[in-house]
Amino acid sequence: MLTPTSDLTQENYYDRSTDWDYQSPTFFKKFLKCEAETMAELNGEYSDMNHEALLVGNYLHSYFESSESHQKFIDDHKSEIMTRTKKLRAPFEKAEDMIDTLKEDSLFQGLYQGEKEAIVTGFIDGVQWKGKVDCLNLKRGYFLDLKTSRDIHKKFWNNEDREWQSFVAEYNYQLQMYVYRELIRQTFDIETTPYIVAVSKEKVPDKMVISIPDYRLEEAAMQIDKFQNHIEDVKAGRVEPTRCGKCDYCKSTAKLGKIVSMDDLID
Ligand SMILES: [Zn+2]
Repeated sequence: MLTPTSDLTQENYYDRSTDWDYQSPTFFKKFLKCEAETMAELNGEYSDMNHEALLVGNYLHSYFESSESHQKFIDDHKSEIMTRTKKLRAPFEKAEDMIDTLKEDSLFQGLYQGEKEAIVTGFIDGVQWKGKVDCLNLKRGYFLDLKTSRDIHKKFWNNEDREWQSFVAEYNYQLQMYVYRELIRQTFDIETTPYIVAVSKEKVPDKMVISIPDYRLEEAAMQIDKFQNHIEDVKAGRVEPTRCGKCDYCKSTAKLGKIVSMDDLID
């Protein structure tokens, strides 16, 4: 049994208080999107969470963690997962299709072996980070993260770089993979290769094992290096959080200010 070297446990990993003590890929990415919204979330004043999408994700993840975890998850969320006639609700029927797609695949069966939901911690440029790895195989030197996607080949417009990008880049999953690789090295002193196992939510689910090129991981390292000090300043209250002006939090707390020209409405 692997023993993480932190005070984080499966029970307290998602507690808000640990998000103050540790940075995580999830919160770092939130800060990059909107500092004001993320601070409101850390302060327990706001949540952008799509509860159902989260439950569907956990349904799938717990299945591949262990049969005990899956059963416990179902027992804990019965009223949200089942209809009154004790049938699975539609989003969880879909999750069942996604589970079937993966579990019947022999490459996936061989690959998805190792420690499940492994908690890793460490420091990146002096800041303490936490991560939870879906499947960590130290012996064979890799780790996997399960991702659900509407369509694995969907294109997203990146307005900053003026180019189309994949769902992996759109959700900055390479940053998560970079951080996990770093924390695994610090926790276990082992070099690992990250892979994403993607499964789509289409009528017939698609599946794919996705690798992350080194230059993408290096870009993620540079992004952390560039923004981390500022984010720490915002977290500590030394700097006022910036409002993105576009997210639901910003919209819900905005007041009409200056008048804007029709030519300034889009980026
Ligand atoms: Zn915002």
